[in-house]
Amino acid sequence: MAKRDYYEVLNLGRDASDSDIKGAYRKMALKYHPDRNPGDAAAEETFKEASEAYEVLSDQEKRSAYDRFGHESMEGNFGGGGFQWSDFSHAGDFQDIFEGFFGGGGGGRRRSRGPSGPPKGRDLKIKVSLTLEEIAEGVEKKIALTRFQRCGTCEGTGAASGSARETCGTCGGQGQVQQMARTLFGQSMTVTACPTCDGEGQIVANPCTECDGDGRERGQTTLSVRIPAGVQEGNYIPLRGQGEVGPRGGPPGDALVFIEEQEHEYFTRDGNHVIYQLPLGFGQAALGAEIKVPILAGSAALKIPSGTQSGRVFRMSGKGIPDVNGRGGGDQLVQVILWTPEDLSRRERELFTELAQLEEERVAAGGEGFFAKVRKAFGA
Ligand SMILES: [Zn+2]
Ligand SMILES: [Zn+2]
Repeated sequence: MAKRDYYEVLNLGRDASDSDIKGAYRKMALKYHPDRNPGDAAAEETFKEASEAYEVLSDQEKRSAYDRFGHESMEGNFGGGGFQWSDFSHAGDFQDIFEGFFGGGGGGRRRSRGPSGPPKGRDLKIKVSLTLEEIAEGVEKKIALTRFQRCGTCEGTGAASGSARETCGTCGGQGQVQQMARTLFGQSMTVTACPTCDGEGQIVANPCTECDGDGRERGQTTLSVRIPAGVQEGNYIPLRGQGEVGPRGGPPGDALVFIEEQEHEYFTRDGNHVIYQLPLGFGQAALGAEIKVPILAGSAALKIPSGTQSGRVFRMSGKGIPDVNGRGGGDQLVQVILWTPEDLSRRERELFTELAQLEEERVAAGGEGFFAKVRKAFGA
């Protein structure tokens, strides 16, 4: 399906200012954010589309490339396969924007009062490659991976057995320290994250020997993900809390499962429609035929009427890909390609020669249809 124009997505003119763009995105994000619309795939799709538009239009360089070359520029910039949700840090910049928007006061994390505690683990980006058949049906996938998990010996605390994490002596557990600085205008007090505990408020005085105080170890796991029918390349499915755990007992990130679409032997996808090119012999096209054509769910009969021209498209209703939001779906479009034989057998040569003579006679005799119309048009 054709990608929507980024300005259109955010409902903005092409001369929108940076603050227009931020304002428009904020409005959409507040309305469509998945946390506010749990289970609503359409809202999530809209949110994702808006976020992608915002990501590009809020960046001077990307925006001017987009203004000049449209979506094509994105493919150039991001190295093949078009814009990918994974091309920017979902966990990083993006959530920061959100905290700014939703964080009802207090400002950034570092400036807030009190210790920050151990940091959150990383999000994992995982790719899963699907056939068109799997996309049409929906599929459950098992994904084996290695990730940071809680250290089994210290259960994630990072402290050696029999000990616990201790309150940081430098900041007294506050996670921040005050410093007096002498400036041109006199003395001023600044508050910074405690350098000893890095703002966490606690330290590991007696580290676990297994993980060296980190609280994590690499481990194998298998995630199971249910992929709904109708997804497309670049969509992702978030598995909350299935990413890597943070160090020293920090909360886990998410696993983001990105969809990759495999190329199909016969079919090409156009949004939810599936396109199939059907080679047809002269005889079949002229006389009509009932042909068995492949569809994503096996095969189905298609009636070709007599006198079918090359290029004609037949629609097989409902044989395409279901819509990801569960409302309707696409069709299979079958385009007839007239197939011309190359190495004629003796018998074929005889028959084609006879046919060619008949066609000539039909034209010479005043003809009908096309040839007759041509004559009339030129007043012959
Ligand atoms: Zn440990
Ligand atoms: Zn400290």
